[in-house]
Formats: sequence, C-alpha cells, structure tokens
Amino acid sequence: MGRRTGNGTRALLTLALAAAVTGCTAGEDTADARGTAARRTHGKDSAGGFAVQYRTGDKAARATDYLRSRRILEKAADRLNDTVKVPHRIPFVVRSCGAPEPAYDPDTGAVDFCVEHVDEIRDRVAHAGRAAVPRGGADAHVAAVLEETAYHEGAHALIDRLKLHFTGREEDVADQFAAVMLIDQGGAGDAKALAAAADYALSAEESPIDETDLLDEHSLDGQRAANYACYVYGAHPARHEGLVGDGGQVTEDRAESCPEEWTQARNGWQQLLVGRLKHHV
Ligand SMILES: [Zn+2]
Repeated sequence: MGRRTGNGTRALLTLALAAAVTGCTAGEDTADARGTAARRTHGKDSAGGFAVQYRTGDKAARATDYLRSRRILEKAADRLNDTVKVPHRIPFVVRSCGAPEPAYDPDTGAVDFCVEHVDEIRDRVAHAGRAAVPRGGADAHVAAVLEETAYHEGAHALIDRLKLHFTGREEDVADQFAAVMLIDQGGAGDAKALAAAADYALSAEESPIDETDLLDEHSLDGQRAANYACYVYGAHPARHEGLVGDGGQVTEDRAESCPEEWTQARNGWQQLLVGRLKHHV
C-alpha cells in the first residue's frame, strides 16, 4: 500500500473519484504514539470521511511543520471527501513510523502517513540536483508527491472499507486512483502527476533493481513513473506531445495506447465507486 521505500473535465469523475519503494504492508506498528500533544483532527464531517491527525509530538518537527503549513493532507482529505461518500472515518495519521513506508493499515482502518516519507521525498529531490527539479520548484514538487501518496493510500482504504471488487493488481489500481484524483484537477493536476512520475524515476535511478524488487507487490518504480506519464499524456494528448519520444517519458509505442489506458483507469474507478460519487466529472 505504501510507497516501497521510498506516491479538469471534466468529463470525468472530477472525481469523485496512486508512491515508491516498499511499505504497503501495514501492521508493523513501530511508531511512538505517545506524542499526542500536537494531535489535531481535520475534517468537516465527524461521522465519516477522511480526516487528518498529527501524532508526532515534538519529534520530526520539520516534516510535521511542512505538512501542516502547506495543509497538504488536509487539502487531499477535503478533495477525497468532496468526491466520495464514505460512511467510515478514515484518518491520515501523521507519525514517526521508523521507516519511510506510509501504508493503510486494515487493522486500524487508518493510513499511517510517515514523517520519514516526507523527509525521503525532500532529500531525494535535493540530492537529484537542480536539473531534476520541475518547473514549479522543489517545494511544489514535494507537495505534489505527498498528495499523490495520500490518494494512493486513500485508494487502499476505500478498497478495504467499501469492499470494492476490482480487477488487476491492487497497487496498480491504487496508482490509477491517484492519477484520476490529480489529473482531474486540470493543468495543475497534470503537473502534480508528472511530479509523482519524476519522483518514481529518481527513485528508480538511485535504487538498482534487485530480486527483492521483483517480489514486491508494487510495479517497479520505473514502470510506475512511465504509467503516470502515460495517464497524463493519454488524458490530453494534444497538451502533452512533449512527453512522447526522445527526451520524453513516454515511448512512441506506449503513447498509442495511453488514451485507452487512461480511459480504462478512469472508467474503472467510476464503476467501482458508482453510487458513491458526490459529483460526476
Ligand atoms: Zn500501495
């Protein structure tokens, strides 16, 4: 569910309707939940829906301050709640997990949003150098990747709590949900999805593939990067011709199928959430 080590149309589900290097196995609760002084819950509806809780106390102040000041998870939770009717309370719990592995935990019904993951994304782009930083700047890049993580883990939560029956691999389906949630935001959302693609590409560069990766439930980071870029291109081919071919993130061959891949991803989630979407997009 989590990243492995490491996240307008408009005619869509504006949705109402995909993170990295291991972690989708929740359950290893190594976090210290004692620091509850800074706990805060954010959410409009106390009866159900996504909400944010901070349980880091005085630890990990830098990462926590970053999340809070930009309201990254609060805005993601609002967007999820504006899109999907969820009768259950699904907390994004910001805490120290001991590893950069955010994950949805089916035992608690909560998403553990690890501060280590925030640091990892920031460090990765910082070490990548100026050339790797997207046009919007490093800060916007990190925020976009974290938003993608929130939607990817949110998808795992929705699949579990709403007992959604999907075809394919859950990790890929979760990435598709994140892509829909981002691309549905229009041009800004496209940029966010491409930031997620860039982060997966950076992760793939810094971590040569080994046997462990091949056994992981996620697609390889390089594949995830290509998938996100494919969805962005497939949603608006004319807008993103630059993504295709030499120097781009989508090969000429793959580009031909991207519009269909995007349509299938979006329609798949529309069908999964039929009757639960708050607005059609
Ligand atoms: Zn996952």
